[in-house]
Amino acid sequence: MRNVVIVGSGCAGNTAAIYTARANLKPLVIAGHEPGGQLSLTTLVENFPGFPEGVNGPDLVENMKKQAQNFGAEYVHGSVIEADLSKRPFRLNIEGEWLETRTLIIASGASARWLGLESEQKLIGHGVSSCATCDGFFYRDKQIMVVGGGDSAMEEATFLTRFGREVALVHRRDEFRASKIMLDRARANPKIRFVLNSVVEDIYDIEKGYVTGVKLRNVQTGELSEREVDGLFVAIGHIPNTAAFKGQIELDEGGYIKSRGNARTSVTGVFHAGDVEDRVYRQAITASGAGCMAAMEAERFLESEGH
Ligand code: NAP
Repeated sequence: MRNVVIVGSGCAGNTAAIYTARANLKPLVIAGHEPGGQLSLTTLVENFPGFPEGVNGPDLVENMKKQAQNFGAEYVHGSVIEADLSKRPFRLNIEGEWLETRTLIIASGASARWLGLESEQKLIGHGVSSCATCDGFFYRDKQIMVVGGGDSAMEEATFLTRFGREVALVHRRDEFRASKIMLDRARANPKIRFVLNSVVEDIYDIEKGYVTGVKLRNVQTGELSEREVDGLFVAIGHIPNTAAFKGQIELDEGGYIKSRGNARTSVTGVFHAGDVEDRVYRQAITASGAGCMAAMEAERFLESEGH
């Protein structure tokens, strides 16, 4: 029987682990399918306080983990595939192995959303990517395409102009969700070409095993066109990793955990931290702050129950 199980090992999960381990609660962290969370997919992080020169994202998150381990936190590989939160202790199925815990901190984050094309899924890692900072380097002097109309798409397109010959930004509307400053920056970049009111219908070439181009459809005219592309970056938002908890705790229509305030979920003893609940800020520092809050609430809860 565990006092605290933390699901997820990004900034939120690691910070919750530091706090609960330091409170002598011997937390168990289930690392999840993206160990280290989104920071492990970035390079330089310039806005995490305390690092005037910036800090390498994977180093930052690895240091958080070491810090938690120094206080006695344990980490295991794997993901929660099923949960029974209907009564206490809570039961979690970690890829076939059940464990029990008095409190649970869900810090499982949010994963990239995909277009949902068969060709896209087959070509992930072979020209299709959701992470410009991870894969941009491979497309030096190549033809790049970014899909999306939010801040992520603007940021990725702007970043990718460091590498690509040209970056085509494909968006399904002619209005943008992106903030004005990010949109203006992208518009001012001579290497970015906007392709509006358009969607990617297909990605070539599954037979070759790598991306050679796309088929586009103009949603206003219905016109189809083809374009040569070497690297296709999908930047159309994220999906919270809550599938294992569906029906067990209250989620909103997008699948994000509904907060009851103070890191509490609809189930007493189950707390949330980070992007799994936060659709707005989604920053390393806010996820860490949320991990701290969840840890302190779990600690208080255990104390009130006499543990
Ligand atoms: P987002 O704001 O939800 O934007 C997603 C974009 O993808 C929208 O333009 C949407 O189009 C499009 N889209 C969604 N599903 C699609 C589909 N199936 N096919 C084609 N297009 C699709 O997501 P985000 O850009 O990842 O940003 C998420 C949050 O992080 C925002 O709050 C953002 O401000 C923040 N963020 C901030 C920064 C920064 O400040 N440095 C950087 C990145 C992200 P529609 O508009 O038509 O719905």
